[in-house]
Amino acid sequence: MPNFEQQLDRYAELIVKIGLNLQAGQRLLVGGPVFNSLAPLAAAPLVRLVAIHAYQAGARLVDVMWSDEQLQRIRFQHAPRDSFAEHARWTVEGALEYARRGDALLVISAQDPDLLKDQDQELVDEVQQTAFRLAAPMYDYVTRNAVNWLVASAAVPGWAAKLFPGLDPETQVARLWDVLFDICRVNRPDPVAAWQTHVRQLVARSDYLNHKQYTALKLTGPGTDLTVGLPHGHVWRSGRVTSQSGISFTPNLPTEEVFTLPHKEQTEGVVTTTKPLSYGGNVIERFSLTFAGGRVVKINAANGEALLRGLIGTDEGAGRLGEVALVPHSSPISQTGLLFYNILLDENAANHVALGRAYKFTFQGGEALSNDEFAAVGGNDSLVHVDFMIGSGEMDVDGLTADGTTEPLMRRGEWAFEL
Ligand code: ZN
Ligand code: ZN
Repeated sequence: MPNFEQQLDRYAELIVKIGLNLQAGQRLLVGGPVFNSLAPLAAAPLVRLVAIHAYQAGARLVDVMWSDEQLQRIRFQHAPRDSFAEHARWTVEGALEYARRGDALLVISAQDPDLLKDQDQELVDEVQQTAFRLAAPMYDYVTRNAVNWLVASAAVPGWAAKLFPGLDPETQVARLWDVLFDICRVNRPDPVAAWQTHVRQLVARSDYLNHKQYTALKLTGPGTDLTVGLPHGHVWRSGRVTSQSGISFTPNLPTEEVFTLPHKEQTEGVVTTTKPLSYGGNVIERFSLTFAGGRVVKINAANGEALLRGLIGTDEGAGRLGEVALVPHSSPISQTGLLFYNILLDENAANHVALGRAYKFTFQGGEALSNDEFAAVGGNDSLVHVDFMIGSGEMDVDGLTADGTTEPLMRRGEWAFEL
């Protein structure tokens, strides 16, 4: 078993080689203003190792945009109440400088889910929406895969404390690193080879589904009876994508999902979450959404309903689906039995759908479509993209073919077709 320093180094290597597949001559920006994630100060030891591996891979320059979570809380405690739409443009402008050159982007997703729990939710919402609006041009680069980008995680104190209450702070962070190394396959004899095999299997699943071109998916489970129409020409994607500049990369570490494009007007029925949703520094517990004609027409939440209504009311597309994803219940993340309060990890533990923006690369030739053309084929547009978990060991998924027959895709949360 490698020691901590070796594990952290292997993880940094996976980030550079498997996640980003950083190419000689590229620059690397760590911590972009997308996914609400500048690089947390506590992740500095990891970021330094990433920089070493990046330069070894031929990077010309590694730059970092740091952030300190505590400063967010200080703002909510001390800033004038009418100032929460205030937002500087330089982080977005700075990140765009990299994106326009075709440089790589690493986002480190590691937040204390309770950071803003006790703050005024309307102000939290205002800050979130302002950030989304300003970062829209960066989201555009990322969703078109214009550059090779990656979201990976790191153990930081506030988050570790939430996951492992009752341990002393140092042990909490160490425990979270152990879990992250485990689910990122860092302790396999050859982690890079293990990831190459895993990604090949995911690609084989998505190839099978692409061949089928189902007209809809039917998802059933406790509290869920949902039909999600799929536009003709939808493309199933998985761990491996190719950037517009031709670099093959893995945008999420870890990744366990295959996902595609729902038709924004063809979701019908009711869906109930199986895990809480961590959103805007808050946790929205179990909720149900009813869809008609693709749009949310009824909202029910055990708590956090105001925040959920705020999210869905962001714009016209925030009440429609932009992603549907399948993840076996036996995935290593699901096996931990932990709720991570972090979308990168939790979305890879269960079947999920996302409210808001769809990815153009989940439609054939979608990257070349204008927003209007993408909307015309059924692609949803919104300032937000928020995944929530609906899968469990009790969920069945079927594919509906053009001639009206159904084929089993998942039974009791596990794949039900052979490759
Ligand atoms: Zn997903
Ligand atoms: Zn998503």
